[in-house]
Formats: sequence, structure tokens, C-alpha cells
Amino acid sequence: MTTTTASVFVPTNRGTDAFYAHVRHELDGVREQGLFKGERIIATPQGALIRLQDGREVINMCANNYLGLSSHPKVVEAAHEALRTHGYGLSSVRFICGTQDLHKTLEQRIARFLGTEDTILYAAAFDANGGLFEPLLGEQDAIISDALNHASIIDGIRLCKAQRWRYAHNDMADLERCLQEAQAKGARFKMVFTDGVFSMDGTIAQLDKIRTLCDRYGALMAIDECHANGFMGATGRGTHEYRGVLGQVDIITGTLGKALGGASGGFTTGKREVIELLRQRSRPYLFSNTVAPSIVGASIAVLDLLEASTALRDKLEANTRYFRQAIQEVGFSIKPGDHPIVPIMVYDAVKAQQLSARLLELGVFAVGFFYPVVPQGQARIRVQLSAAHDTAHLQRAVAAFTQAGRELGLLSA
Ligand SMILES: *Cc1c(COP(=O)(O)O)cnc(C)c1O
Repeated sequence: MTTTTASVFVPTNRGTDAFYAHVRHELDGVREQGLFKGERIIATPQGALIRLQDGREVINMCANNYLGLSSHPKVVEAAHEALRTHGYGLSSVRFICGTQDLHKTLEQRIARFLGTEDTILYAAAFDANGGLFEPLLGEQDAIISDALNHASIIDGIRLCKAQRWRYAHNDMADLERCLQEAQAKGARFKMVFTDGVFSMDGTIAQLDKIRTLCDRYGALMAIDECHANGFMGATGRGTHEYRGVLGQVDIITGTLGKALGGASGGFTTGKREVIELLRQRSRPYLFSNTVAPSIVGASIAVLDLLEASTALRDKLEANTRYFRQAIQEVGFSIKPGDHPIVPIMVYDAVKAQQLSARLLELGVFAVGFFYPVVPQGQARIRVQLSAAHDTAHLQRAVAAFTQAGRELGLLSA
């Protein structure tokens, strides 16, 4: 067999030119509005220090690697071991021939860690949310969702026939209004859904208050714990532990792709019968491949680490406290809170981009967020702390922020 270079497919004169011109025009529009998202290429594993393709080594302040597990030796070792014992892939959905002992073990271990009864794995948390609502709720039911919930929750709700209410972000009075309306409309079942932690501000949902309201109106409480799994709360169980409602959440979705190792994979966990029905009817589970054995084996090792010691979440907490205080002391304003997501407010989108670019020159990788990801005039650099950071990294980061902030006139010299 000979190998040839594939010829580039250039569609012309097929009556489709207008379509491709339209796509290019859309892209030009994105660029003109200053909304084009480039991707930086990293040439090393994920960690506190990373090397970029051009050889520069920088401190990484924008990964979801909260616990520093993305390249942890024990996690990598467990992935190797599962690769050796369970192979590379299963080439099957779960219900045909895609379930190994490892998958069942991980599902049980997640349930044990989070204080629930059973768990169903998905290829991603995006799929867990996408496949959650439609199997469980129908036309007679109500879903009441925080206005700033993650895109995957919004999409999942769209796929479901239940009636929808959207309450103003984190606003308990407005949530109660929605519960009352849903009740007045005679909804059969009501489900309140919120992110445990909101990724743009690091806001921590008031799950204790939401639980009280849910109980008042007989509603289910469901949460997405992607930015909380493994480190929020005294033993890292999540926002429910942080807010004192451990064991009182009906349904939890989460990811293996952030703090819990950072590869990929997601899950839904809750009562046994709910998980059982999802296995029967949830489309991203039924029609998408099994999570790779190496990821499953490594995720079990992650839970071993987290159940044995709170050292990593404790270090993350200490790093968060240190950085939040230090960055304010040099004059930046941040969104207040406890979460390792630290939004450093710049307000102006152009300035945020300039700050991010200058930080990179100074050896700190932290990206800017601006409209439409955050509201107009709310541009920011979103820093994320990690247990992989040492104090020296954080000191260097604060020094770089200070220098760049002065140069750009964001801080007085
Ligand atoms: C990251 C994230 C997801 C998606 O997680 P994946 O496993 O990467 O698909 C879903 N919900 C929230 C709140 C997230 O932050």
C-alpha cells in the first residue's frame, strides 16, 4: 500500500460558495467585535508551571487543576496500570459491551464520596447535564433554573418538555416567586437546578436556603458541582458540604475533567432509582462510548487520595486565602468570596486583554474574560488557584500583576 498526501477538498461551483462565504463573514464579525478566542499551545503536561510552544515557561493561573492532580504521579501511575490491565478502549456503549469492573467500582466510589446511592458515568459533564432532564421530567413538570447556570444545563433543559422558570442569579426571593408560580400552575414535580459554584464570579450557591425553599414547595434540588467536586467543604465533598446540606441534595452532576484529575468524563449521582432510569433513557449515555478505562482507573486513584487526606484541598484553601489577600493589598479589586476562582476586575475589555498579554510576557498565564462571557463593562482576569502552586509561584504572580497593573494605569504607581 502506498501513502499519498490527501488532496485538499476545495468545494467550488457546487452551489455552496455562498455558504462558505457566509461562514467567513461570521468569523470576520467575531474578529471585528474583538471576541475571537485564540488558543495558546502548551508543550508540557498541565501543572503550576507550563512551557508554551515558543519555549517560555510560565506560571499557570487559569487551569481547573484545583487539586494539582492533572499530572500527579499516583494518578498517572493508576492510568498506566488501568491501561495495562483493562486496555485502551472498549469500542462500545455501556449497555452493549462497554462496562468493566472498573466502571462499576468508580460509580460506587463516587456515590460513597458524595453520600449518594448510585452514580452513572458519562463521557463529559456536558453530557450528564444534557441527558439529565428529558428522561426524568415531562410536560406536567417544572424546572426552575438559575439565570447564570452553565451552558450544558441550559441545553439539557431545552431538550426536555417540562415548563421552565428562570430565577435571577442567586436571588432567593425570585426563586420563591418561581416556585409559587409553578405551584399555582399545578406542576406535578418541581426541580430547582443550580450550579454549586458559578465559574465566572466564583459565587457559591446558597444551597442551605435553596433546600429550605425546596422543602417549602415540595421541590427537588439538583446541583452541578463541576467547580466544587473534590475541594469545597471541610473534606472536599462539595458545595453541599460547604453549605451544611451534605446528604440533602437530590441529584448532583459533576466532572472528572477539573479537580478530579482533569482528563475527561462526567457523572450524575443520586438516588438508586433515578440513576437506574437514566441508564435506561438518558441519550448521551445510551448513544455514546464508554469512558476510557485509563481515565476510570485514574479517577479511582483520585478518590483514594481524597478519602485518605484533606491535604490537597487544605493547601488549595491556604493558597486561595493568601492570593486573595495579596492581590487586594497591591490595589486590585476582586469579587469577594472563598473560592479558588478569583475574578480580578478590570472592567474594560481592551484593558483586560492588554493586562493578560503583558502578564504573559512577565511569565504569568491568566486569560481575560469579557463580553459576552461576562456582562458588558465587567471584563476581568480570572485567576484560578491550585494546590500545585507554591507560595513562591503566587508571590511571582502578584508581582507580575502589580507591575503590569501599574504600566497599564490600573494601579497607581
Ligand atoms: C466545566 C463544566 C461543565 C462541563 O464539564 P465537562 O466534563 O468538561 O463536560 C459543566 N458544568 C459546569 C458548571 C462546568 O463548569
